Amino acid sequence: MLKLSGEALASAASDETIDAATVARLAREIAAARSEFEVEMAVVVGGGNIWRGTTGAGEGMDRATSDTMGMLATVVNALALQDAIEREGQPTRVLSAVQMAEVCEPYIRRRAIRHLEKGRVVILAAGMGSPYFTTDTPAALRAAEIEADAIMKGTHSGVDGVYSADPRVQPGAVRYEEIGFMEVVSQDLRVMDLTAITFCRDNSIPILVFDIMEPGNIRAALAGDRIGTLIS
Ligand code: UDP
Repeated sequence: MLKLSGEALASAASDETIDAATVARLAREIAAARSEFEVEMAVVVGGGNIWRGTTGAGEGMDRATSDTMGMLATVVNALALQDAIEREGQPTRVLSAVQMAEVCEPYIRRRAIRHLEKGRVVILAAGMGSPYFTTDTPAALRAAEIEADAIMKGTHSGVDGVYSADPRVQPGAVRYEEIGFMEVVSQDLRVMDLTAITFCRDNSIPILVFDIMEPGNIRAALAGDRIGTLIS
């Protein structure tokens, strides 16, 4: 299960919310890694490049409405990713937790598993279909549902793993190669939503946190290279 933030589809080099060259690069890496390792791959994509529920709520909007806008943003990103991955010759399906039959399939667990078995990259949109979550928690939930071996959580902020403190603020911070779920929680390391971390702990799903903006890292993660931080 690959978790991509919406911002991973944007680029510092352009003003676009979805940068075509960035999406194409991710799509190339996803398609190449899938065929090289013959791995079943699902992707949960966020929407933060377009809208986050907390943005509207902070300005007085109804939180549930604002979160629904965020979920719809993830569908926009999912379609961009689908288009780019299929242009690489890799079949995909977008499954949405909010039904929109004209646009994509509904999320049905058994259908997701069947698509994976057939070698399709399954792109999961609209999070869990419920407000008050970010896409980290649906990434964890769907990983459990499809019996994923691991979650690969791609970062996009230049921080290439889990650090003892924010390395952008404290240059002396050290990156952990491995860390336990409870240490992440007790040290409040804010690498992923706590709901997602505790869910992964309860269901024994390891999480590899790595820099997805570094070309070649999806392959490196699947090859077992020592990149990022493994939370287990
Ligand atoms: N969201 C939601 N329920 C979900 C998943 C997402 O309400 O199950 C909304 C929430 O408002 C969130 C937004 O969709 O802020 C975009 O997702 P996220 O913030 O996770 O995007 P990312 O930071 O990964 O780009």
